[in-house]
Amino acid sequence: MDGEMIMQKKTDALENMYRDLASKEKGYRARALKMFSHVCGSCGREFEGRGLKELTVHHKDHNHDHNPPDGSNWELLCIYCHDNEHEKHKMKGYGGAEKAFQTGGFSAFEGLDALLSPDSKDERKT
Ligand SMILES: [Zn+2]
Ligand SMILES: [Zn+2]
Repeated sequence: MDGEMIMQKKTDALENMYRDLASKEKGYRARALKMFSHVCGSCGREFEGRGLKELTVHHKDHNHDHNPPDGSNWELLCIYCHDNEHEKHKMKGYGGAEKAFQTGGFSAFEGLDALLSPDSKDERKT
């Protein structure tokens, strides 16, 4: 019976974590799209309407939890240039979060970090 309770707790925590990560991603993407013009920072393609979903937010320091309100860590890249950017980054042989994914698979602690990070508070509309 105890075991069941622990399982339940774990599942809840995981669900909360995924929900938090999803809403967080939406949060900074919306902010970045408001802040910058809808142009890929690498190939210069312009995006509007439905095509806008191909424009993604890249984190310059590759730390997705580093989201300064002035947008200084963000760059809008189309999905293709975004891929390239990460390939280059991998070849240079450094990279925090992504390296963890490659070497150790999913890390629960990274998720916890995201959960505890204070910047989810500033999602409120102004
Ligand atoms: Zn591009
Ligand atoms: Zn990126």
